Amino acid sequence: MTDCIFCKIINGDFNTEFVYENEYLVVFKDLHPKAPIHLLVVPKVHVESLNELEDEKLMAELFKGIKAVTKKIGLKSYNLHVNTGKEAGQEVMHMHIHILGKDKK
Ligand code: AMP
Ligand code: ZN
Repeated sequence: MTDCIFCKIINGDFNTEFVYENEYLVVFKDLHPKAPIHLLVVPKVHVESLNELEDEKLMAELFKGIKAVTKKIGLKSYNLHVNTGKEAGQEVMHMHIHILGKDKK
């Protein structure tokens, strides 16, 4: 989607550093971190929210991506957060999963 900020990031328009990337998703640091470690796991395909995510393979890949990136950075304890819908606080309408961690212990 041309007017989607996360599609632009995935496209490399802002030279965003990816903490992790594979054929299904990218992971990058949240611009306004709400925890010492705050990453966003973002599918490469534009899906508006979890409500529109139908691809079961992609659902599995998102969780595999979470496990891969947390292992890569040595983060063993963390919270996942998925805002779904504007009334729930979703600001960017390209589905994403927040990874929130305190430290790498
Ligand atoms: P949500 O409220 O779940 O839609 O979260 C959107 C998140 O995207 C917020 O935590 C923002 O800080 C973050 N964000 C918005 N623009 C960018 C950007 N250009 N790079 C990194 N994170 C961003
Ligand atoms: Zn998008």
